[in-house]
Amino acid sequence: MVKDLRNRPLRDLRISLTDRCNMRCRYCMPREHFDSHQFLEKKEILSYEELTLIVQSLIPLGLNKVRLTGGEPLLRKDVCAFISMLPQELDIAMTTNGILLEKYAQELANAGLKRVTVSLDALDIETFQAMGDTNEKPETVLRGIEAARKAGLSVKVNTVIRAGYNEHSVEKVAERFVGSDVIVRYIEFMDVGETNSWDDQEVITGEMMRRMLDGLKPVVQNHVGEVANRYKRGMQEIGFIESISKPFCGDCNRARISADGSLYTCLFASKGNDLKSLLRMNATTEQISEAVRSIWSKRDDAYSQNRGDIETEKVEMSFIGG
Ligand code: SAM
Ligand code: SF4
Ligand code: SF4
Repeated sequence: MVKDLRNRPLRDLRISLTDRCNMRCRYCMPREHFDSHQFLEKKEILSYEELTLIVQSLIPLGLNKVRLTGGEPLLRKDVCAFISMLPQELDIAMTTNGILLEKYAQELANAGLKRVTVSLDALDIETFQAMGDTNEKPETVLRGIEAARKAGLSVKVNTVIRAGYNEHSVEKVAERFVGSDVIVRYIEFMDVGETNSWDDQEVITGEMMRRMLDGLKPVVQNHVGEVANRYKRGMQEIGFIESISKPFCGDCNRARISADGSLYTCLFASKGNDLKSLLRMNATTEQISEAVRSIWSKRDDAYSQNRGDIETEKVEMSFIGG
């Protein structure tokens, strides 16, 4: 097992399957920056064979969980074929905006996906379309969630709360999933990337959100490195991802790989570590393993804890994988 300079293991790999997306959420890929953006070309993107090799090489280092993300992972061709190539002893999950989920849910489950996190910022069409800068409808995402549940996937819903846009979603989204096994998690609006005009005045903290919900009771954390602070409200589980107000760098065990094959040791990093060149020189799993061991053992990232003290140009979340 490998540990970084703060004694944190590498347990969780987030794989960005594509930097493209079929939405333009204002807090992630604002249209004015991304409609004219130069997205990666096919040859620049790691193949499924290359990604599988990376995953295999991280298992001896302690990896036990893989999350497929992006951009929008369901836009990548044959994603189900990739899932079935991954070692099935891993906990395999996906984060998706849910637009294509109804179509793929059963195939994803058949391929070995266990869990899906679906982003849904509002249930009313006006707010949903304003936040996502999209013509899509929340009903499409809700149908995706239903299809995922029917296919046997365990489902979480992620709702980013941004002041002035969707404070009302705190109550509405929780209410919508009462009586189901869907876990709802609220996310504080984060200062990821350089294009989303982040302003701390637009952050609704977890504490503020909890004041909007009656009857919450804290739950003990499931495992070290869990990102959400968990609560129960009756039978319903509700979590808060409080990266701004309660940073959780202390036990952060997540690595990220961008679609073009760079390893990032923090969501707020300015640059990654090129693994693609190694792969394309026919490196073995042992060689990739050693390269990652060396990168991880020098890791000292704790951006959220030191927010304000660090001035770096941050990579975009849609590129690095959320
Ligand atoms: N497209 C997929 C989706 O939206 O679920 C996967 C990628 S997206 C970058 C992953 C997660 O990051 C989503 O739940 C999204 O809401 C969240 N996210 C993106 N930008 C954010 C920001 N500025 N603050 C907080 N969460 C953000
Ligand atoms: Fe796309 Fe997800 Fe970013 Fe929204 S949050 S723009 S759906 S990558
Ligand atoms: Fe992990 Fe970096 Fe986020 Fe801290 S800021 S929790 S080190 S990804």
